[in-house]
Amino acid sequence: MSMLFVNEERLLKSLEELSLVGNSSDKGVTRFALTPGDLQARQWLQARASQYDLRSHFDAVGNLFIYAQDAQEQPPVIVGSHVDTVPNGGRYDGALGVLAGLESLIRLQETQTPLSRPVWLAVWTEEEGSRFSGGLIGSRAIIGELGKEELKLTDADGISLAEALCSWGLNPDDLPQAARKPGQIHAYVELHIEQGAKLDVAKEQIGVVTGIVGIRRYNVSVKGQANHAGTTPMNLRRDALVAASLMVQAVEQIVRDSGHLEAVGTVGKLQVYPGGVNVVPGQVDFTVEIRDIKMEVMDELVAKVRTRLQEIAAERHVELTWEAAPAVTPSLLDESVQQTIAQVANELGYSWRYMPSGAGHDAQHLARICPTGMIFVPSKDGISHSPAEYTADEDCVRGTNVLLNTIVRLAK
Ligand SMILES: [Zn+2]
Repeated sequence: MSMLFVNEERLLKSLEELSLVGNSSDKGVTRFALTPGDLQARQWLQARASQYDLRSHFDAVGNLFIYAQDAQEQPPVIVGSHVDTVPNGGRYDGALGVLAGLESLIRLQETQTPLSRPVWLAVWTEEEGSRFSGGLIGSRAIIGELGKEELKLTDADGISLAEALCSWGLNPDDLPQAARKPGQIHAYVELHIEQGAKLDVAKEQIGVVTGIVGIRRYNVSVKGQANHAGTTPMNLRRDALVAASLMVQAVEQIVRDSGHLEAVGTVGKLQVYPGGVNVVPGQVDFTVEIRDIKMEVMDELVAKVRTRLQEIAAERHVELTWEAAPAVTPSLLDESVQQTIAQVANELGYSWRYMPSGAGHDAQHLARICPTGMIFVPSKDGISHSPAEYTADEDCVRGTNVLLNTIVRLAK
């Protein structure tokens, strides 16, 4: 099959330009969802699209869709990502996927490539959750899972999601109309930077994403006995922090030794009570987080960690409470879309590997209503959500070439 190639110069120039649009920071890119800066970025995209005879519209939750004028009534192939960022974020997270999608649509126009399905670019609303907690709001709306209650979510200034949508002239009451049912989207593909170092370390060019990892979180509390640090002999202590420190190490060791190479386990938050320099710690609260792409792997690791923590608690004569916090189900991506991406990468002569995504993406929601795939490109040193985020020009171009030819095959 003959391959299409993107206009490298145009793609790279638009990456440069978009990083400056609506950006309120002089350090990295700061563009929170549904702010004037976010609107400027979307209007910039609309203006760019119209130069190439592409149309666009917003849905009720601020998702922007861009498509060719001759879009048929058939379920579209959608490509997309986001333009909102974390505070002082990078130039590539989200923006690359959006601009690669736009460049692909433009190339399809310019080359008059015959397709039997329409291709849409989606710019999702509030992916990061920097303004309204939880994030992934636009993609939750499109699968019909953004509840009316969530329109009441407020930002740091007390402005609700509904009010923010109204400020853009959108009507939050139309939220149900934004939802799509299974069968109404033919396929979804998202190009994104890896945000990890696997491709960079292995010097591989393309990641074919197998799925987005699930997350299990637990709030753990260890209760011992607070006491005077000067007068309590070592053999009479029930030191909650010493017990907790062994537990923290157990989490690391169990996950490392599990043989599940993609699994990760983290204690990221820990509080010591009463927290005095001269007091034996009486209580420690900490979090345990386990991520993997397979439910059964997470089940196994959680059971092992929990058993070991109970053993440590017994050995150390402390009480342990273990409470589950909200979890995220892993999303497996569509195998035939994965194969299409892999085949395109092969035919383009790029090196690639299958890999899971350790970070959440809008694709995990789309995967619930349509065949979905993701393409990763290398992040230098694995750095992301930082002004130091960097993906080499050639990698941006390669990823976009893979996206473009994947679209052609899905929309044929
Ligand atoms: Zn992103």
